Amino acid sequence: MAAMGDNVDMIKLKNNEQIVKMRDSGRITAEALLAAGEAVREGVSTLELDAIVRRYIEKQGATPSFLGYGGFPGSACISVNEEVIHGIPSDKKILREGDIVKIDVGAYYKGFHGDSARTFAVGKIGKEAEKLIKVTKECFYKGMEMALPGKRIGDIGAAIGSHAAENGFSVVKTFVGHGVGHELHEEPEVPNYGVPGRGARLCEGMTIAIEPMVNAGGFTVRVLDNKWTVVTTDGKLSAHYENTVAITANGPSILTQA
Ligand code: MG
Ligand code: MG
Repeated sequence: MAAMGDNVDMIKLKNNEQIVKMRDSGRITAEALLAAGEAVREGVSTLELDAIVRRYIEKQGATPSFLGYGGFPGSACISVNEEVIHGIPSDKKILREGDIVKIDVGAYYKGFHGDSARTFAVGKIGKEAEKLIKVTKECFYKGMEMALPGKRIGDIGAAIGSHAAENGFSVVKTFVGHGVGHELHEEPEVPNYGVPGRGARLCEGMTIAIEPMVNAGGFTVRVLDNKWTVVTTDGKLSAHYENTVAITANGPSILTQA
């Protein structure tokens, strides 16, 4: 996630060699996320999931991108139900049957970051929660299909936002996707809404985190007193699905693959 404000001149393009390296940090990111996801069950604390992420990343000789980032205390952001993003791992936050949990992971390896998030179900979840998770994943792929040289940032956002709206959901506006590379958050911003044909032109060598954050209710969010955790204003569920994607001459390529 990144804050708003755009600077197109600052976009750092990656050559093939750099993208190959980003596949390594991406793989470590994806595998750490998978390991944490496999541990999701009733009774597990979000701190235990965080420890799995940290252990896995460090075992690969990589560094958790989020640990200490802006003072963030965890290796993963773990957000439950109405929490959208930036949930702080805690031994007091115990998963319950019916919860949905978003795990957001970044790994830094040999000069590059990966960034990826998924939403997991804790046991049996409600119909709306199931639909929300499914639609959020679909939103990611709708957006990724637009990640082609010659398209624009607005094409990605429009595809994501309209698919969410068609399903009766809304997208978060105050937090957005972003470029990824040497830095965890690079230009450009990649909003989950937009106007087709508007915004920065996409080109070969851009590496971006496409990350729909989709709310079951209204789009507005607020930040809790802990200064980190973003929650839906109406208390309804939110889901998140993120991959780091390279824009290539042959189309979009997901770098955060296990
Ligand atoms: Mg991100
Ligand atoms: Mg992320």
